[in-house]
Amino acid sequence: MDQTKIDVLRAQPLSAFTHLIDGKQVPASDGGTMDVISPIDGQVITTMAAGTAADMEAAIASARAAYEDGRWAGQPPAARKKVLLKWADLIEANALELAVLGVRDNGTEIGMAIKAEPGSAAATIRYYAEALDKIYGEIAPTPGDILGLVHKEPVGVVGAIIPWNFPMMIGAWKLGPALAMGNSVVLKPAETASLSLMRMAELALEAGLPPGVLNAVTGEGRVVGETLGLSMDVDVLVFTGSGGTGRRLMEYSARSNMKRVYLELGGKSPNIVFADAPNLDEAAKVAASGIFRNSGQVCVAGSRLLVEAAIHDEFVAKVARAAEAMRVGDPLKVDTHVGAVNSEEQLKANLGFVEIAKTEGGEVVTGGDRILQDTGGYYMAPTIVTGVTRDATLAQKEVFGPVLGVTPFETEGEAIALANSTVYGLAGAAWTSNLGRAHRMVRGVRTGVMHVNTYGGADGTVPLGGVGQSGNGADKSLHAIEKYVNLKTAWIKL
Ligand code: ADP
Repeated sequence: MDQTKIDVLRAQPLSAFTHLIDGKQVPASDGGTMDVISPIDGQVITTMAAGTAADMEAAIASARAAYEDGRWAGQPPAARKKVLLKWADLIEANALELAVLGVRDNGTEIGMAIKAEPGSAAATIRYYAEALDKIYGEIAPTPGDILGLVHKEPVGVVGAIIPWNFPMMIGAWKLGPALAMGNSVVLKPAETASLSLMRMAELALEAGLPPGVLNAVTGEGRVVGETLGLSMDVDVLVFTGSGGTGRRLMEYSARSNMKRVYLELGGKSPNIVFADAPNLDEAAKVAASGIFRNSGQVCVAGSRLLVEAAIHDEFVAKVARAAEAMRVGDPLKVDTHVGAVNSEEQLKANLGFVEIAKTEGGEVVTGGDRILQDTGGYYMAPTIVTGVTRDATLAQKEVFGPVLGVTPFETEGEAIALANSTVYGLAGAAWTSNLGRAHRMVRGVRTGVMHVNTYGGADGTVPLGGVGQSGNGADKSLHAIEKYVNLKTAWIKL
């Protein structure tokens, strides 16, 4: 990555962002706008449309009309594939611009953003583009006078509500399979990270996606998100975000048309280190990056470190050294390891968790503070708290910040019991050189993804989905497609 290019891009003034409805860029129907504040320095960098319920209704109506007349679903698979491949190419061609725009908006360090955002989004769109003409229906094993067929049909209109931590990556996880299967989509980016996703949506039109097939509306979740959730004309709702909002979406569904709702929610993922880990130095470095990159604003972040008691002090010291070696600061500097916290509100919440941990007997080994306040931005030092008991707030509640809680254990059984002692089940890891133990941990820990001797980095070929209150349904891999199709049986008497 070229620092000079990044500096040029970051200095570019931004014009106001609008909705994307029916292929056109339109302001809010009442002219309302919201300031976009950069977490890098707390400055307003542009405005975006503060959507109204009427704006969202217009976007849904456009998506419905586009679906019903078959302008996308009715195209041959090869034609849809071509458009999606072109879209992936355009995302890649504009990767640095998109990444810098996203970082100015949400604060993720550029080194991570460039790969995780446009890089991953392009790969995801391409994956589903390539898959779409390889997905077949079925012929059932029926008696000879019957032909039983199973068709996979698009569901119709998909509502996709996206969070602020990785808007392009997570947006693509929903948009890729939804559009590949012929659906229309109404996208609702997050208040504090809409810009890059809005640009990415515009590129879809440039790639040849017909107007109305992808509409995007910015604004408050409580306004436009709620309208989307309550719509009688949305068939499937897909979401990544907080448990509280996930719960509301299920309510909206129940109160409206009982649309299918797929949720990818929070986690309190255990990173479990045994004394027989193959390389404790490596494990410590990965444990630090597994919670501190992107300031801990990663749904699968390893936020609970469970350490075998025999190596507790030694290992915590290693993780603390790794944490202290991470450069926190301007996310648009290529050598920054940890960028800004997304918003002042989130930063305050993170610091609040540290205070609670102290009152519950936790000891702050490193970090614990807001730093670089003179920049005007929102930065927090990577924070490690030891002495976190099983039921402590830090062991039970998702912080979504750079805060690692440490709990010792004595036995494998105790490690599994601790790992499974939250309402969540999104990710986890076990570090051990004992093959049998590794497999027992994979089986024993109740979670959507279990790493062994690594943390994070699972690519698009494998599903990501939570159990328990971490959600339902899977993003990524061919399994994600199931969310965006209806099975229709044809039972034909011959
Ligand atoms: P966080 O607390 O991490 O910001 P949220 O769950 O509040 O996560 O936000 C994730 C997404 O959900 C954002 O796009 C936000 O606008 C949207 N959202 C928030 N509240 C609602 C709501 N009541 N209905 C629909 N969407 C919402």
